[in-house]
Amino acid sequence: MSPFRVGRGRGMRRRTPLKARLLIAAVLAVVALMSYYSSMDENPITGERQPVGMNEKQEIAMGLQALPQMVNQHGGLYASEQAQQRLDQIGTRLLAALDKKLAKENRQNPYPFEFHLLADDQMINAFALPGGQVFVTHALYRQLTTEGQVAGVVGHEIGHVLARHGAERLAKQKLTEGLSGAVGVAGGDMQSAQMARAIGQMINMKYGRDDELESDRWGVRLMADAGYDPRSMIDVMKVLDRASQGGGQPEFLSTHPKPANRIEYITVVIREVFPNGVSGNLEP
Ligand SMILES: [Zn+2]
Repeated sequence: MSPFRVGRGRGMRRRTPLKARLLIAAVLAVVALMSYYSSMDENPITGERQPVGMNEKQEIAMGLQALPQMVNQHGGLYASEQAQQRLDQIGTRLLAALDKKLAKENRQNPYPFEFHLLADDQMINAFALPGGQVFVTHALYRQLTTEGQVAGVVGHEIGHVLARHGAERLAKQKLTEGLSGAVGVAGGDMQSAQMARAIGQMINMKYGRDDELESDRWGVRLMADAGYDPRSMIDVMKVLDRASQGGGQPEFLSTHPKPANRIEYITVVIREVFPNGVSGNLEP
């Protein structure tokens, strides 16, 4: 019997690749974890360190890359220059207040914000891509009766961008992919497929409850700094609540916490910003 080919030898050959596979899987898992934790980056606005996995330039580039797909998915842009201009003005006013606030802390907003009014008349929604692309559907826009209410929606979305919620979420998903790749020991070039998936994920991004409340907080603060009555944010929640009672669940609600809970939270933030009551000269 040849000692080279039977019995133990075959068994060893089966076992060795398994061990090697486990080793590779372990190495990949460690690499994924390391890249997640080494992806920590300081937020240019808040100074907070976050696992975002990309810098601001990459966020801006990814947002711009996903922009056409987002617009297409919602029937294009709304065909009224006047309404678009109004949205731009409100957004610009909030950003001017932000710049003023940041200048005092020697910080600067790195994101070139753009505001898009989408033609979609069905889906009551607003969202933001990483890097500063902000969207409001006409279905939501037409329900907002004051400038302050529009400012509430836009301020909330600006908050998602400033707090880098999109990049944070992508970094988490990348970690998950890295780990599942490690389990399957998948090889090959994943770059382009990963990119396409990332864009898909960005477009259908759902944030967690804490992200939403943090953005509500940003919205309230920006509104107050820009001279809008932050109580208009509560009106926005009422609009959303009414819309949800009319049968169709607005998308804004399925991806966001219940308006009643948010009203409670927003009321607390308003009391923080105005401990002696909201000043009377703010625009509703
Ligand atoms: Zn949100």
